[in-house]
Amino acid sequence: MKRRGLLTALGLMLALTGGAGPVAAEAPLRVVATFSILGDLVRNVGGEAIALTTLVGADSDAHVYSPQPRDAMALARADIIFVNGLGFEGWIDRLIASSGTSAPVVVAATGVRARGMTGDHASPDPHAWQTLGNAMAYVDNIRDGLATADPANAAHYRARAATYTARLKALETRTLEAFDAIPPARRKVVTSHDAFGYFEDAYGVEFLAPVGVSTEGEASAADVARLIRQIRAEGISAIFVENVTDPSLVQQIARDTGVAIGGRLYSDALSGPAAPARTYIDMFSHNLDALTRAMTAGP
Ligand SMILES: [Zn+2]
Repeated sequence: MKRRGLLTALGLMLALTGGAGPVAAEAPLRVVATFSILGDLVRNVGGEAIALTTLVGADSDAHVYSPQPRDAMALARADIIFVNGLGFEGWIDRLIASSGTSAPVVVAATGVRARGMTGDHASPDPHAWQTLGNAMAYVDNIRDGLATADPANAAHYRARAATYTARLKALETRTLEAFDAIPPARRKVVTSHDAFGYFEDAYGVEFLAPVGVSTEGEASAADVARLIRQIRAEGISAIFVENVTDPSLVQQIARDTGVAIGGRLYSDALSGPAAPARTYIDMFSHNLDALTRAMTAGP
């Protein structure tokens, strides 16, 4: 990162003249993000000033991931590493240690109020990215991390973070208005695993799930039977499959209860290019539209 120090003066000049474009370094900052959703937030802040490697790609489950040799190589060459934290990437500490990297590691969820321990495992709920307010905190942490690692481009990162945060704020307003228009009794759905706790708290939607906050767990027959009783008793609007989990269990629950499948939610990963969750904002918009459609159409 020393080569970047030489460019600080130039970056300062650009900042003073109002230029927020990236400084033409001899090579972009090498950045690693652990999973696709975080990678998209980092890309939005970093723009053309960074070369981004994302370890766990689209439609892949970062709770359970087997790191590849290329992941250790990416970490070894990185100038800065972004992780979610909150225990989401259980494999990352060993991978970082074995890679020998000396790059700073930024926990994107720093400062987010973690949801309490759920289930019998005393661990925080890692899915903090599922509220727009938390995504804004991630963006602040990403901006500060990039600006520290690459001070020559600090103005560029600040400008891009501000622009992107304005888009998140607009989507937050739309989200609050959309759920406000739906009676609370209709705001109940089922998903595969417990990935929407933060979303639930922020937007007044109740999510039931047969599997806990990590996809590592498996639903017991008793858990499923309890959930089915709850679905019948409480009047659930829809059941959703997820892009990172096997849909067969929730499909079975839908058959057993006669509740409609409301579509697919993107919980822990973005979609590939042919599906509607290619970016964080697209993912959130898709989930919002799928949920509100099911809640207004249901039985
Ligand atoms: Zn998850």
